[in-house]
Formats: sequence, C-alpha cells, structure tokens
Amino acid sequence: MNEKDYDEQLAKARDFHGHVCGGIAIGTKLAMYGLELLGMPLNERHKNLIVFLEIDRCMSDAVQSVTGCSMGKRTLKQMYYGKFAATFLNQDTGEALRITDADANKKFKDDETKEEMIVRFRSTPPEVLFKVEKVKIELSRGDLPGKPYMTTFCSVCGEKVSDGRHKLFGGKPICKSCAEGSYYEVID
Ligand SMILES: [Zn+2]
Ligand SMILES: [Zn+2]
Repeated sequence: MNEKDYDEQLAKARDFHGHVCGGIAIGTKLAMYGLELLGMPLNERHKNLIVFLEIDRCMSDAVQSVTGCSMGKRTLKQMYYGKFAATFLNQDTGEALRITDADANKKFKDDETKEEMIVRFRSTPPEVLFKVEKVKIELSRGDLPGKPYMTTFCSVCGEKVSDGRHKLFGGKPICKSCAEGSYYEVID
C-alpha cells in the first residue's frame, strides 16, 4: 500500500464525504487494507465483496467510497455497533476479515492534531494501525444482493415488505413497525 494510492483514495473519500477528518483518514486506510488483504484491486467494482460496517460516522463514508459498496447494492451492511470496525467478506470464497482501528480502542490518546493524524495514517503501515481477525459470516437469504427472494404484504397496515423482513403472528405476516412499534408516529 503506497502513499500515492492513499492520497488518491483520500481525495475520493473527501469528495464523497465533504471534508477530510479523522474518520475519513482512518476509514480510507482501513478500507484499502481490507481490499488488499482480500486481493482486490483499488478502483474496481467487486461484486463478490460485502462490507459490514459497525459504525455510522465519518469513517463509514470513506469505507463506502474506497470499496464502492453501497446499501442500495446490498453490499454494505450497517450493524450500528458504535465501534470503529468493519468486516470485509469475499462472498465467493467465504473469506472474511474483521478490521478494527487499534487507536480507537486506546483509553488514553496522545495529543495530536487532525493534520498530524492524517500524516501518521498516510505513512504508517496498516498492520501497525489495525487489528485483523479472521471471522465466519453466515449470510441469510434476506441479506443477499440480487432480487428479493420474497415479498409479502403486512396483514395490519397492508404495506409491502421485501426480503423476509416481516414477522409471522399466528401465520399472518406483520411488518416490523406494526409488530414492534415504529421509529415514527403518524400525526396527520
Ligand atoms: Zn467527517
Ligand atoms: Zn404493517
């Protein structure tokens, strides 16, 4: 992984996200490392790659920008764990690597400006910055890219539900918001 590649990917991530910040500096390097370890070249579409993001902050945009994975293609899965980590899965081989930012797990941080941090991420080998674990992932049918394997209609609100995201109560399909309560409340 050379510094020129890092600069190129960082610029792409900056354009996608809107600015360069610590999260973008980390996420760019982390995603480049994930691709490298899976033997996937930069700037190509990898249809067999699925990335699981554990955080929905700046870093996520860099991972999306570098990998080309997206929620709409169902190749980017947001897990909402609030952790600076992402897992890179090669769907063809089943190989999966969970990469965590070693810095983020330090309880006490060195004083460092954003600029110093970017310079450090640019020049430090990824194996120093990150921890890598081999993991196993079982994807359910409802999580696979491609056409929905099923759709049904909620027996309460009547709305269509794809990908098996509904629940069954007494054999009847019910959508999540009818079954568990929703993030919204209809006021009109
Ligand atoms: Zn940011
Ligand atoms: Zn419903």
